[in-house]
Amino acid sequence: MAIHERSLVEPERILRKERLVVEGIDVSGDWNLIILPRVINDYDLDFAKEIVNSPDGKTINQCYQCSYCTASCPVHNYWDERYNPRHFIYLARLGMIDELQKRADVMWRCVSCHKCTHRCPKGVLVEEVLKVILRTMAKKGLIEEYPSKKFDKFFTEQVLEYGRIEDGELLFGWIEKQGYKVVKDPILKKPIPFIGETPEWLKQLTLKPIKSMNIGFLMLNAKHMLFHPRTKNWNKFKQVLRKVMEEEGALAH
Ligand code: SF4
Ligand code: SF4
Repeated sequence: MAIHERSLVEPERILRKERLVVEGIDVSGDWNLIILPRVINDYDLDFAKEIVNSPDGKTINQCYQCSYCTASCPVHNYWDERYNPRHFIYLARLGMIDELQKRADVMWRCVSCHKCTHRCPKGVLVEEVLKVILRTMAKKGLIEEYPSKKFDKFFTEQVLEYGRIEDGELLFGWIEKQGYKVVKDPILKKPIPFIGETPEWLKQLTLKPIKSMNIGFLMLNAKHMLFHPRTKNWNKFKQVLRKVMEEEGALAH
């Protein structure tokens, strides 16, 4: 039987009357909450089959809906409760694609921490299963390719250019890519951290660890951000690698 968190039920289906009498019994008070039933006739069981048949999705049917995964998921707990791994698995198994589509804006938010998989008592490879659900939806045109793909491309470009990544440049370069105004130094044209329109949540997220760093480490990071370190003799290798990746279409999307 499905387990329902209240946050998963549409508000218009929740009824709570000031006073309610059922068959002569006054059930007003905390018992006085009714969830209106709904009829579902638009489901696609082939969708679940497709997930089970993919190598990463095989464990989906082991799920018994205990919700340990969701209880340990940082995205659910600290970002948006609409991101609910247990519920996505539930909907996918029933083939309720329209319900999954309603959550398309949050479904890609997994940060790949694997806490869900680690906690699952039934051995469901939760993160992998969720990725298969997303991939299957994207393949069928039911959901847009998830935005992290854009980040993957930006990340790859950085590695191709320098042979390694530099965290600060990656972070603030990405912020710029998202359309935020960043201020750049006049000579090297590199973003100056936190000057411009850095979103508040990101300031909080990055300032906390920075406060605990020692001054030498901070200066080293600032230097690396201005003069991005490069892998030795990278230029030759870069050209070969870029050519191979272009031929294989790995840079196409
Ligand atoms: S922890 Fe495992 S069994 Fe429990 S709801 Fe999540 S995936 Fe299903
Ligand atoms: S891997 Fe993704 S779904 Fe699993 S706990 Fe981490 S953020 Fe949540």
